[in-house]
Amino acid sequence: AKPHKLFAPRNNTACLDVSHTPDLKHFQEKHAEFAHHSIIAMPMIGHGLPELYKHRTAQNPADTRLNIGLINEAGLADIEKALSCAAHTQWERNCINHRAQLLEKTADIFAARRVELISTLMSEAGKSFTNAQNEMHEAIDFCRYYAQEAQIQWQHDLPEPIGVIVTISPWNFPLAIFVGQIACALIAGNRVIAKPAEETPLIAMLATRCFYEAGISRQILQFIPGGSAAGAALVLDRRCDGVLFTGSHASAVKIATEINQSGQTKPLISETSSVNCMVVDSTAHIDHACKDVISSAFDSAGQRCSALRVLYLQEEIATNTVARIKQAMAELNIGNPVQLANDIGPVISSAAQRKIKTAIEQYHHCPIYQTHLPPETHHGSYIAPTLIELDDEAAFPDEIFGPVLFIKRFKIQQLKQVVQQINQQQSGLTLSIHSRLRATQDYIVQHARVGNFYINRNQIGAIVGCQPFGGTGKAGSGPKVGGPWSIWACCKNADPCEPH
Ligand code: GLU
Repeated sequence: AKPHKLFAPRNNTACLDVSHTPDLKHFQEKHAEFAHHSIIAMPMIGHGLPELYKHRTAQNPADTRLNIGLINEAGLADIEKALSCAAHTQWERNCINHRAQLLEKTADIFAARRVELISTLMSEAGKSFTNAQNEMHEAIDFCRYYAQEAQIQWQHDLPEPIGVIVTISPWNFPLAIFVGQIACALIAGNRVIAKPAEETPLIAMLATRCFYEAGISRQILQFIPGGSAAGAALVLDRRCDGVLFTGSHASAVKIATEINQSGQTKPLISETSSVNCMVVDSTAHIDHACKDVISSAFDSAGQRCSALRVLYLQEEIATNTVARIKQAMAELNIGNPVQLANDIGPVISSAAQRKIKTAIEQYHHCPIYQTHLPPETHHGSYIAPTLIELDDEAAFPDEIFGPVLFIKRFKIQQLKQVVQQINQQQSGLTLSIHSRLRATQDYIVQHARVGNFYINRNQIGAIVGCQPFGGTGKAGSGPKVGGPWSIWACCKNADPCEPH
C-alpha cells in the first residue's frame, strides 16, 4: 500500500479572513509600488532572442484608461525557435526528488513575490484581493502538491514522459491554472512550451520568471505569449507531443479537430466548463443556501468554470428565496478591486462585457432583476449582477460566462426531470445540492452526471489535493486536476486510470 499523503493545502478559503490576514497589511504597504509598474511580456525561449512581432498595450479591465503593460506577442520565428530547442534536454533523466525540489523552490518564490503577483492579478484580470490571494495560494499548492504526490508515487519507478507538452491556459485563472499545467507536465519529466491566454500574459510571464529563478532552465520551460494562431501553430507542429488545454468547449473541439485533420495523434487533455446547477429543496437551510448562491454565481464576476448558472428552487420556497437572493445581490459592492470593500470587480474585457450584455438582452421577455452599477464603474468593463427567472417551458440556457444567474422552479415530484435536464447538456462540471434529506442528496448524486458535487455548500473554490477538479462529458477529458491521477496523464502509456 502507498504511504498516506500528508499534503497540506494553503488555499483553504474557509480559513481565510481577509481583515485579519497579515498579508493584507503587507499588501497595502507595497501595492502602490507595483501598481505603477508597467510590465512587459515577451516570448522567453531556449536560445536566441525573440523577434519584435506585434506589440500592444494591456489595459486594466477595472479602469480601461489605465495601461498596465506592454505585450510583445510571439511571431512564427519565435514559435519555430521554441519548438526546435524543446527537443533535447536532460530534464527527463533527473531523479524525481530533483524535479520536486525545483517545484518546491518555485512555490517559495511565489510566496516571496506575493505582493507583485497579487497586484498583477488584480490589475490585469480584475480580481478582488481575496480572489487574487487565493489564486496565488492555489498556484503554490499546485507546485507543492504535484511535487509531493510524484515523490510518493514515483520514488522507485519513474514513468516515461510524453516529451514536449504545449500548455494553453485560460484568463480566468491566469496564475493558478497556468502554473498548475506547467507543474504537472514538468514533474512528469516533460519539457513545456507555455502559451498563456491572450488576455493575461503579464501575470503568466511573472510566474514563468519564478520558475526560472528556481533553477528551471529556458530549454525546459519556454513562454510564448500570443493568441489562437500561436496556439494552433504550436499544437499542430509534429514536435509537440501532447497538449494540456483549459478554456472553452468550442476551442477544445477546434484543437481536437485540427490535430485529427493534420493526421497526428497526440494526447490532448482538456478542461472546459458547463452550465452548472444548484438544486435547493424545501428542507434546505435558506439563509445558508442564499449565501452559497451569491458566492457561487457572482464571486469573480461569475467568471469561473465552476460557477453556478441555473438555480433550481422547489416551488414552495421559491418566491421567498428569490426575494432574499435579490436583497443579497443589492448589497454587493461592485467596483474597482483596488477599493478592498468592493466584492465584485469587472469582467475580463470590454469585448466580454458586450457579449454578456447581448446574451442578457435575449431574455428581455423574462422577469429580470439587475443590481445598480455605481457611476465610477463606467470606466471599466463591469456587468451588474443579474438574475433571470425562467418559466417551466423555457429551454435550458446556454452558458453566459459572467455574473448572470438563471432561476427555474420545480415541484419535488419533478426531481427526476430536473436531473434529466442537467444531464441533457452532456457536459457536467459542478453541481451543488442544498437539502437536509439524505434521500434527495443520494438520488441526485447517483443520477446526475457531473464531475464535482457539493452538498450544502457553494460550488466554487475546489482545493488542490483535497478536491480534485474536473468535469464529465463535454466538460473535459479528465483526469481531474489537483488530484493523484493528473501526473499520470503527463506520462506515456498513462496508467493507472482515474476511476469513474
Ligand atoms: N477550480 C476553480 C473552482 O473550483 C475553477 C477553475 C476554472 O474556472 O477553470 O472554482
